Amino acid sequence: MTEVAVYIVPDCNCQADDSFLLFHERQLLIRGNKFLWQKSELIAAGLTGFNGLLLEKGERNTLAAVLAADEAALLNGDLVATREMLLRTGEQNFNLIGQGTQLITWYQSHRFCGSCGVNTVPHPTQRALVCPSCDACYYPRINPCVIVLVTRGDQVLLARSSRPGAKFFSCLAGFMEIGETPEQTVAREVREEAGIEIENIRYVQSQSWPFPSQLMLGFFADYKSGDLNPDPEELSEADWFEVGNITVPVAPSLSVAGQLLEIYQQSLKKQPILSKAKTAY
Ligand SMILES: [Zn+2]
Repeated sequence: MTEVAVYIVPDCNCQADDSFLLFHERQLLIRGNKFLWQKSELIAAGLTGFNGLLLEKGERNTLAAVLAADEAALLNGDLVATREMLLRTGEQNFNLIGQGTQLITWYQSHRFCGSCGVNTVPHPTQRALVCPSCDACYYPRINPCVIVLVTRGDQVLLARSSRPGAKFFSCLAGFMEIGETPEQTVAREVREEAGIEIENIRYVQSQSWPFPSQLMLGFFADYKSGDLNPDPEELSEADWFEVGNITVPVAPSLSVAGQLLEIYQQSLKKQPILSKAKTAY
C-alpha cells in the first residue's frame, strides 16, 4: 500500500468522510471540476495514512496533503497550477485552495528551526510549529503587499509583468518593505516601476493572495506628474487605457486587481468625469 505523505496537526482526528485537497509540487490534483477528494475515494485507489494539515474543522474536516508522483497517478486526475484555479472556480473555493497551498508551503519550509536547526514539531494547541530545543515558534507567514489602480480622469494605468507567462494587464503591485506604511509602498512602487508620481492614495479593499503567501492591500491613486517609463525588470508593457475601451486582457474579476478596475468603472458610470477635468492633466 502506498501512503499519503502524513502531516499530522493537533486535533485532526481524521474521519471517514473528511475531504482532502491534494498537492504535488505546488500543483493541485483535480478530476474534471472536482478538486476535493473524499477519504473513501483515496482508500479505494489504494492510498492510506490520511492525515493532513487541517484547513477547516467541522463534522467533516477539510485537510490539505501532499502526494508523491506515483501516489497522485493512482487517482487518475490532472495536476493544475493553483493560479489556474483562479479562472476555474468561485471565490469561496479559490480561498480554500489558497489556504491549502499556503499551509503546505509554510509547513514544508519550516521543518527545521531557523535558530538552532533542530526538527520542528506541531504546536499542541495552535496552528504553529515549535522547536523542542529552543522553544522558537513558527506561525504561517503572511507577506503584506500593495496593489494600486492609478487613474488619470477616465484613464487607468495597466501593465503586464515581465514575469514569464504573464498573460494579463493588471494594476501595479509590490511587497512592503520594513518600516513602510502601505501608502508609502504604493508611492514607491509606482515611482520605481512606472516612473511617475501619484497623489490622493486611498485604501479600497484587500484579498488573501496565495502566490505564495501574500495579503494584497488594494488602493486607488491619482496621477500627479511625470511620463511613463516602465522598469523592464518588472514590467514588459505599461500604458494608459480609456476605462470604456480596454482592448487588452485584464486581470480576472476574482482578483483584487480585477475588482479595483470594476469598482472604478462603476464609479465613473455613477459620476462621469467632466471633460474639463480630463483635459487638466
Ligand atoms: Zn530551535
